[in-house]
Amino acid sequence: MAYRVTLIPGDGIGPEITSATLRVLEATGIEFVWEQHAAGESSMELRGEPTTDPAVESLRYTGVALKGPLATPVGYGHRSINVALRREFDLFANIRPVRTIVPGRCYEDVDLVMIRENTEGLYVGVEHFVAVGDDPRAVAESSAIVTRKGCERIIRFAFEYALKHGRRLVTVVHKANILKMASGLFLEVGRDVAREYEGRVAFNDRIVDNAAMQLVLHPQQFDVLVTTNMFGDILSDEMAGLVGGLGLAPGANIGVKAAVFEAVHGTAPDIAGHGIANPAALMLSASMMLDHLGEARAAVRVRDAVITAIRDDEVRTRDLGGNATTSEFAAHVAKRVRG
Ligand code: NAD
Repeated sequence: MAYRVTLIPGDGIGPEITSATLRVLEATGIEFVWEQHAAGESSMELRGEPTTDPAVESLRYTGVALKGPLATPVGYGHRSINVALRREFDLFANIRPVRTIVPGRCYEDVDLVMIRENTEGLYVGVEHFVAVGDDPRAVAESSAIVTRKGCERIIRFAFEYALKHGRRLVTVVHKANILKMASGLFLEVGRDVAREYEGRVAFNDRIVDNAAMQLVLHPQQFDVLVTTNMFGDILSDEMAGLVGGLGLAPGANIGVKAAVFEAVHGTAPDIAGHGIANPAALMLSASMMLDHLGEARAAVRVRDAVITAIRDDEVRTRDLGGNATTSEFAAHVAKRVRG
């Protein structure tokens, strides 16, 4: 049986790392029918607007997408297509695992999972300017929307994830000392849900600034972290930094009816088109996709091949101190997958 999957190569380094990843998926022998669609900047070039419509229609049907990064203008212009996709399909859980792959760096044995709430919080886009005198943008106001239902489902998701993957601890990260409502509700629900898992998965909580420092001082004290949208976005980049950077950080956006697999990193405009981007994060995201499709053995083969290529064979792209190109790395991993 061939899996029908929506493919969004994305912007910047997206097309380069996507074709590298497809090469590795092909090596698994599993058949895919790729429904390829542009979105973001590449869609602007084609249609003159950043529509995701064809991609959205495809995803409605396939339920699974492999996606490259999409560019979002900073401080002006259209809203993030990523955020729109997450909201359209209610992709409420963003799973971002990080593991030490390259030995001899600052930290050994880092093995953490960020479960980030993906649809609420400060990223809902409820914001406006207030004019004062002749300045139409004198005051900016952004609202964080946090619902009890949204907190419950993401925190329960984190505990269920911990149970399923043999994890020992869930840490709720918050800022309830200052944001007594938006973050206070998250912590309150966290404590309630944690009680249901007592004796099976341990629970603690950390204020976000302390969590950020503790991650740098002693990351091994954490296991699964669950938090609201923006804190999760920021801390997951920090966590990627603990293990060698964004080139090694995969991700999955999970909803009830659809799932989108993508790396944590963005379009890396500074290196786009040079053929040197690290495709490992998207390959590891593809491994998570294989798991999601029920292809557990292929998922392990892809993950192990990526890890072995980097750690043991020392085939590394420039961000990891090597000189392999994107396609050399892909060829090596594909060979390892074939065995
Ligand atoms: P970025 O993640 O694109 O780049 C940050 C740094 O990491 C750059 O120096 C880049 O070269 C490096 N880097 C990132 N991925 C790499 C890889 N695979 N291999 C080697 N080096 C890599 O972040 P940014 O520069 O802040 O954002 C650029 C654009 O990406 C923005 O438009 C932003 O909105 C978008 N973005 C998209 C997504 C997404 O689609 N999921 C996520 C984050 C950022």
